[in-house]
Amino acid sequence: MKPVQSELKKWMQENENFQENYTRIKKEVLHDPEIKEFISLHPNLTQREIDKNLIRLYEYKTQSKQCDKCSCFEKCVNMLQGYSPILHVDHNEIHLSYEKCHSRTDYEKQKKQQKLIQSLYMPKEILNASIGDIENDETRFKAIRELITFIEESKSGIPSKGLYFYGPFGVGKTYFLGALANKLKEFNISSMLIYMPEFVREIKNSLQDNSINEKIDYFKNADILMLDDIGAETQSAWFRDEILGSILQYRMMEQLPVFFTSNYSLEQLESHLAKSNRGDVEIVKAGRIIERIKQVSKEVSLSGENRREE
Ligand code: ADP
Ligand code: MG
Repeated sequence: MKPVQSELKKWMQENENFQENYTRIKKEVLHDPEIKEFISLHPNLTQREIDKNLIRLYEYKTQSKQCDKCSCFEKCVNMLQGYSPILHVDHNEIHLSYEKCHSRTDYEKQKKQQKLIQSLYMPKEILNASIGDIENDETRFKAIRELITFIEESKSGIPSKGLYFYGPFGVGKTYFLGALANKLKEFNISSMLIYMPEFVREIKNSLQDNSINEKIDYFKNADILMLDDIGAETQSAWFRDEILGSILQYRMMEQLPVFFTSNYSLEQLESHLAKSNRGDVEIVKAGRIIERIKQVSKEVSLSGENRREE
C-alpha cells in the first residue's frame, strides 16, 4: 500500500505545484505591459482564447524582442538564435511567429560581405586592414590619392585600371591592398588577393588534379585581382608566359583592373622577368608582360619607414 500512497502524495504535490506555477505564470503574463497592450489592441479576443494561449504568451514575454535583451547575434538569448517573436491575431485566434532580428540580418550581410574577399595565404592583419588606419604622411600622399580616386570611381562601376605599388620592404604596400579590398566590399565589389610565390605553387600543384583551367578562369574573371609581391616568386618561363601572361591578356581585353605590389619598379621588374639562360627570347617575353601590366594598372611608388617590428 505504501508505494501507491506515496506516489499519490507525490502526484498531488506536483499537481499543487503545477497549479501554483500556472497561477503565477498567468499573473506574470497578464501583468506584462506588452501583453496588456496586445490584449487591449484586440478587444475581440475571448478570455478562453487568452487562457488557451497562456504558454504562447509566456513564450513571447520571455523572448528578446528585436534584440532588446542581446548585445549581438552571437549572444542572442532566444530559443531560435537570431529570431524575434511576433504576436498577431487571425480570426480571433492568437498566433505566435518568429522573424529574423536585425542583428541576424546584419550578421548575414557581414558574412556575405566577408565572402567578397577571397585570399590565398594572406596574414589576418592584412585582411583586417582599414583605409582609415593609413597615415597620410608625405611619403604615402601620392599612393593614397590614387587609392582614393580608385575608390571614388568604383562607386559607379569597376574602373578598368588598377595600381602597381612598388617600393621597399615593409612600407605598407600589402596593407594598402587589404584596406582597399575591405573598402570595396561596401560597394559589393569582390577582390581576389594572392601572394605571388604561393600563386605559382598553387598553380603548379593543380597540374596534378586537372583543376588548373578552372583556377585560371577564376583569376581571369575576379572583379578585382590583386597580385602581391610580384617578382618574389620563383621564376619560371612557363608560369610567366602561359599563366600570368594569359590572365593579364584576358583582363586587359575585358578591361578588368589588376593591383600589384612589388619591390621592383616596372623597369626593374622587366629585367628581373627576363633573367634566364635563353637570352633575347626572354627579353621580348618579359617586355610583353610589362606592357600588359601597364595596360591593367598604373605605376605608383611608395616609400617611408619600414613598419615591420622584427
Ligand atoms: P610591404 O608589403 O610594403 O612589405 P606590409 O604591408 O606588409 O609592407 O606592412 C608591413 C607591416 O606594417 C605589416 O605588419 C602591416 O600590418 C603594418 N602596416 C602597414 N601599414 C600599416 C598601417 N597603415 N597601419 C597599421 N599597420 C600597418
Ligand atoms: Mg608585402
